[in-house]
Amino acid sequence: MDKETTSILSPYNEEEKRILINTDCKNSFYSLYHETPPRSKHWCHSHCLLGGGFYKNFFSMALFFFPTVLYCISTIPSFYRVYPMLIVPFLLLFIIVCIFYFKTCYSNPGIIPRKYRIGNGNYELNNSKINVILPDNIVASRKFCITCLINKPLRCSHCRICNNCVEEFDHHCPWLGNCIGRRNYKSYIGIVFFCSVYLFYLIITSFISLFIGIQYPLTWTSFFDSWKSHWFVEPLTCIYCVPCFGLVFTLLLFHIYQISRGITTNERIKKRYIYNQGFIKNWIKFLFRPIPPIYPLFKNIFK
Ligand SMILES: [Zn+2]
Ligand SMILES: [Zn+2]
Repeated sequence: MDKETTSILSPYNEEEKRILINTDCKNSFYSLYHETPPRSKHWCHSHCLLGGGFYKNFFSMALFFFPTVLYCISTIPSFYRVYPMLIVPFLLLFIIVCIFYFKTCYSNPGIIPRKYRIGNGNYELNNSKINVILPDNIVASRKFCITCLINKPLRCSHCRICNNCVEEFDHHCPWLGNCIGRRNYKSYIGIVFFCSVYLFYLIITSFISLFIGIQYPLTWTSFFDSWKSHWFVEPLTCIYCVPCFGLVFTLLLFHIYQISRGITTNERIKKRYIYNQGFIKNWIKFLFRPIPPIYPLFKNIFK
């Protein structure tokens, strides 16, 4: 049952708009609306987009490709002579991480369309706050976004970097340069999970590769002969990948906790634990809930 509290602003007329502009009223709806366009760029009916700060993708991509290049020039040649099949999991994991990476970076996270009303005519600015009664009589409110001029759906939040309202907003990922929301959260978890497995695989196989060339019976000479040819690149791969794995795996544990509690990162920060449906239901919801279609961003659906 929805309970509405209304405090509707009267539409601005031309005189009011002129006053707002001339007085440079930064907090007015009118000036905010015109000064802060969305920072995301959309193609293919918004199926493909670049979020705010997308150029940071190249940095994270370089961080990802660096150990991969080290691995390819050093560990793979040693393995190929002894266990050629060990290259298959490496290639599979690499391709899976890349797919999830591009899917999360360049897909629509669930941007809610703005109230587009550019041109002449009155601006019907509805500043109502809608209260929604959830099960167990918990009250959640759909607040008004003064930038997008909409009543945000439940669990939606405005990303200041992309300047868009995003459905089930989790956070804005600076590494991926995109918001993480309802439509790309699963692929984001896919990156975090498979990146952890990938880094773990690089660490283990690089470490094993150090010992591959050792001849038996084991002598100090055979041991040092083997290490002479592997002394630099494999240890460097391990040294680079161990802290990366620690960070990514910690992030994965964080998100496993959040999924189990049925909360997003944004809700955890704001201490809003009201959408928890229980451990099993939360996981079923995460795993099997279909991805919703994209909102028609560029059609003036509010006209
Ligand atoms: Zn907004
Ligand atoms: Zn964002």
